[in-house]
Amino acid sequence: MTFSLIKPHVKDLGGGFTVRRLLPSHPHKMVGPFIFFDHMGHVRFAPGEGLDVRPHPHIGLATVTYLFEGAILHRDSLGTVQEIHPGDVNWMTAGDGIAHSERSPDALRRAGGALHGIQTWIALPKEHERTEPSFEHHPGVALPTVSQDGVELRIIVGSFFGKTSPVTSYSPMFYVAAEMQPGARLEIAPDYTERAVYLAEGELTLDGEALPERHMAVLPEAQALTIEAKTRARVMLLGGEPMDGDRFIWWNFVASSKEAIQQAKERWRAQGFGKVPDETEWIPLPDEPKPAESFS
Ligand code: MN
Repeated sequence: MTFSLIKPHVKDLGGGFTVRRLLPSHPHKMVGPFIFFDHMGHVRFAPGEGLDVRPHPHIGLATVTYLFEGAILHRDSLGTVQEIHPGDVNWMTAGDGIAHSERSPDALRRAGGALHGIQTWIALPKEHERTEPSFEHHPGVALPTVSQDGVELRIIVGSFFGKTSPVTSYSPMFYVAAEMQPGARLEIAPDYTERAVYLAEGELTLDGEALPERHMAVLPEAQALTIEAKTRARVMLLGGEPMDGDRFIWWNFVASSKEAIQQAKERWRAQGFGKVPDETEWIPLPDEPKPAESFS
């Protein structure tokens, strides 16, 4: 096989709301700085129903949200209240600590409707792990695009295909959304040491081998590969340079030291991450270490 295959793990985040988790996995805990990769939906909410990820904390990472369909209302302890729509990107640097919630906007909840998207976590380099938290929203029109031979590329974060996203990042990385027409081909150059291809929808091959839908291919280093769409396909390309060492993950916390995780647990117990606007509830600290609860 020319690539290493990661199978999705289905996680029920409550109320039948499921995500497919690709990262972290074994042996690929990270691909470049990408330490967490959740594919949410496609789900269809009935009128009156919606997404409700209550306030919860993060440290040591940045969350990146990108939607294919629907909308999410993000609120955080910096005072941010921001709706995200398909093609936009939300980049939230948790750094030293932030709390946020993610819910369906009121109008969407009343009407019901689809939700489909991806949330990833980006590990921060050690020198930025404890940086001041911040939040960026970039509308889709602000992101560079490339159109070529049946392929539409949008550069979400970092640099690739000769274009650079305006989104802040802290280490060499790329994150690109590709929409491919049947028969379209795209070469993935070895511009970064660690690269992966995620097939969100459709059928495609990688150097002639089929990549199953909703699976991730981790590519071999220093080798150009060509993806070819057999149907219309929605593909995410991601990766970067290897991180500066391993990371601990506990719940929604990422850190290069266990002490930082312990401090974050005590801080959340003491409600020390600040108030999220318009919110009165929060997700309690779990008793046992478990994977992150959020699409989030
Ligand atoms: Mn979150």
